[in-house]
Amino acid sequence: IEANMPTSEEETSPPLAGTNVMNVILVAAECAPWSKTGGLGDVAGALPKALARRGHRVMVVAPRYGNYAEPQDTGVRKMYQVDGQVPWHVPCGGVCYGDGNLVFIANDWHTALLPVYLKAYYRDHGVMKYTRSVIVIHNIAHQGRGPVDDFSYVDLPSHYVDLFKMYDPVGGEHFNIFAAGLKTADRVVTVSHGYAWELKTSEGGWGLAGIINENDWKLKGIVNGIDAKDWSPQFDVHLKSDGYTNYSLETLQTGKAQCKAALQKELGLPVCDSVPLIGFIGRLDQQKGVDLIAEAVPWMMSQDVQLVMLGTGRRDLEQMLRQFESQHHDKIRGWVGFSVKTAHRITAGCDILLMPSRFEPCGLNQLYAMSYGTIPVVHAVGGLRDTVQPFDPYNESGLGWTFDRAEAGKLIHALGNCLLTYREYKKSWEGIQRRGMMQDLSWDHAAEKYEEVLVAAKYQW
Ligand code: ADP
Repeated sequence: IEANMPTSEEETSPPLAGTNVMNVILVAAECAPWSKTGGLGDVAGALPKALARRGHRVMVVAPRYGNYAEPQDTGVRKMYQVDGQVPWHVPCGGVCYGDGNLVFIANDWHTALLPVYLKAYYRDHGVMKYTRSVIVIHNIAHQGRGPVDDFSYVDLPSHYVDLFKMYDPVGGEHFNIFAAGLKTADRVVTVSHGYAWELKTSEGGWGLAGIINENDWKLKGIVNGIDAKDWSPQFDVHLKSDGYTNYSLETLQTGKAQCKAALQKELGLPVCDSVPLIGFIGRLDQQKGVDLIAEAVPWMMSQDVQLVMLGTGRRDLEQMLRQFESQHHDKIRGWVGFSVKTAHRITAGCDILLMPSRFEPCGLNQLYAMSYGTIPVVHAVGGLRDTVQPFDPYNESGLGWTFDRAEAGKLIHALGNCLLTYREYKKSWEGIQRRGMMQDLSWDHAAEKYEEVLVAAKYQW
């Protein structure tokens, strides 16, 4: 997939990347809108376009999981042993990239073999000498672990085994793909400053803190951006029907109220503007702290609120969502499924978004929420701490409510303060909404930071 090249008008202005224009190949297990299970898909869909807007030539390599409607088939069929061959064989935009000025961006453990193959198959043999690799950590909790014998599957010279060998007190010695990728990549990026710090702690590094610390010099935290074409209340295509409406800062109060009424109607909840509508969107697992919301449900049900939760994941948690809905049919909806349209509508229609994640490398839903005037209540961890400055009533500053431990009591306390402000202090509420919407959360800003990393990888190593 070649990222959108600039249109003819844009071509007349020089690339923002100046003399550092590069050939970039981003490799990921998923890429929105074709494939997405979470934030990784959003990043792989948006960052390449933002880098292309800066003048770089950018290709995305991702598995084709199905027969997608939009992409054009190049007709090229080629068997590759490794992704490193792509620049010579795929004529993206008509011409192959070659290995000049080339940098690969690998993402998470799924593609962490890329830097290792680049070294073992090419650079060790004096080929692709000037090609660089950057690996992005979206979530360190998944590492591609297995028994040491799994080394036989990766097809590498035997002396490479040491790169993969890790030890942890529970599992003992094991094979670890992410570890090998992190050691070998020229640069490492992770998706927030807070997470970059947490990765170096024994709790946040999930067994890889030692390696991250040793490679600290090549690590940088860059907060993800928002693809404004997909996620902005002004242009959101999912708000164009069924009673929803697009809105902006100027039309915030009327537009958002209309979306809230449309959402209540669509969900079959009582249509009422004054009752706060609280949302949750995400994978149903231990990371996302759904169990904390569950613990807080009895308290929430003692309040005049409505709650809608959208997610898929662990069967027991899916069952729990359904059960909440049947027990509190006048107040709760538990939507089990993966629906991009519903995610957009919840983001627009809710007043409040809950993110009680135990850990959160970046988190995109709180960014989307803020840009839609929906106020986040979050566990202050990783990217959530970086992006949601707590509301300070004395200075009328801040963007939402945070709590400092992943405990239901803490969540209830933060949500209680949030609800009080919603009910009693309308001016403050609107101030928080407006500050959230006025932030520049675009990918353009993040892409500039990525460019700095690509340039550093090129010149300093
Ligand atoms: P993570 O990558 O850990 O899953 P993020 O907050 O970074 O979390 O990104 C989650 C992305 O996945 C967002 O775009 C969110 O809207 C989307 N998403 C998660 N669950 C669902 C769902 N059930 N239906 C639709 N979109 C979902």
